[in-house]
Amino acid sequence: MIPFLDLKAINNQYQQELKDACARVIDSGWYIMGNELKTFEQDFAAYCGSKHAIGVANGLDALILTLRAWKEMGKLQDGDEVIVPANTYIASVLAISENNLTPVLVEPDPNTFNLTAETIKNSITDKTKVILPVHLYGQISPMQEIMELAGQYNLLVLEDCAQAHGASIDGKKAGTWGHAGAFSFYPGKNLGALGDAGAVTTDCAELKETLDALRNYGSHEKYKNKYKGVNSRLDEIQAAMLSVKLKHLDEEIVARQNIAQAYLKGIKNPLVTLPTVINNEGHVWHLFVIKTNYREDLVKYLSDNGIQTLIHYPTPPHKQDAYAEYVEQQYPLTETIHEQVMSLPMGPVLDLASVDKIIEAVNAFDIK
Ligand SMILES: *Cc1c(COP(=O)(O)O)cnc(C)c1O
Repeated sequence: MIPFLDLKAINNQYQQELKDACARVIDSGWYIMGNELKTFEQDFAAYCGSKHAIGVANGLDALILTLRAWKEMGKLQDGDEVIVPANTYIASVLAISENNLTPVLVEPDPNTFNLTAETIKNSITDKTKVILPVHLYGQISPMQEIMELAGQYNLLVLEDCAQAHGASIDGKKAGTWGHAGAFSFYPGKNLGALGDAGAVTTDCAELKETLDALRNYGSHEKYKNKYKGVNSRLDEIQAAMLSVKLKHLDEEIVARQNIAQAYLKGIKNPLVTLPTVINNEGHVWHLFVIKTNYREDLVKYLSDNGIQTLIHYPTPPHKQDAYAEYVEQQYPLTETIHEQVMSLPMGPVLDLASVDKIIEAVNAFDIK
């Protein structure tokens, strides 16, 4: 079976480095908020090209705490509206409702499935305060036009970069276009820890200070609490694992890009629509997502041929029980996307012989 993503093989590439880093932390006797975190925060900020990176416990917390920090800073209040793509992974929406803000779901661009200025424009109201673009599948949203629109209406921009570490436009990376970027280092992400972890990037010193405290009980100084904070820290072991993997991220992105190019060139089947790429160099291919009207059949056909696929995602947020209040709202494009998409195997250790086998199998697929 060609697995969708072979995490063990990915981490095995750096087995010795990871074990050495783990031993270093064990031997240090310091497990939370120490030098490993500081080093990773500095290196990750430098990698992205932002002034600051603040480690937190996971990607959802990176989103939640950034919005929360803006509330503490007086930039947002309960009931303010946040524009978010209707077709995103639910975490982007959860971060908004968790803060008593109002998610305004908007349909994405039909080709890239990302937000654009055009898709956002008509949803801006007096209550809109934030745009939350999601760089879905590793393709960065058109941030120049989104920032221009945000500037016109004086809106904050929080980039959901959970799938887009290192993605860029003209060399400027995801997480540096908006006022903040939220990253996940969930093991299956392009930069994955060996457990949960996340980070926020920003150039804003006040946001950095606020997040430093919010993630640690609201405290800058031991036993002094400025905010009603939470415990959402990125621990030393995970920071050490991430420092090892960050060094190899660019090579892994190139491996993903090579696979994507092979798929884009090789797959020729009228029943299958390939992803639309608007920014070839800057796409980091977290997922390679095709569309077909015959998804169930193609998933089964590939599985019968020893190829594992996944669906990102089967149900949009507004159709989830958690958001029953949205169930009457109509998002036909989003619903069509969720009915048609499926993801082919993609990752830094997928060998080109397997890629050829996948291409052949997709091309041989037909309906009876
Ligand atoms: C994975 C993901 C998240 C959440 O990250 P966690 O670390 O799993 O909390 C948020 N947004 C998007 C788009 C994601 O893919």
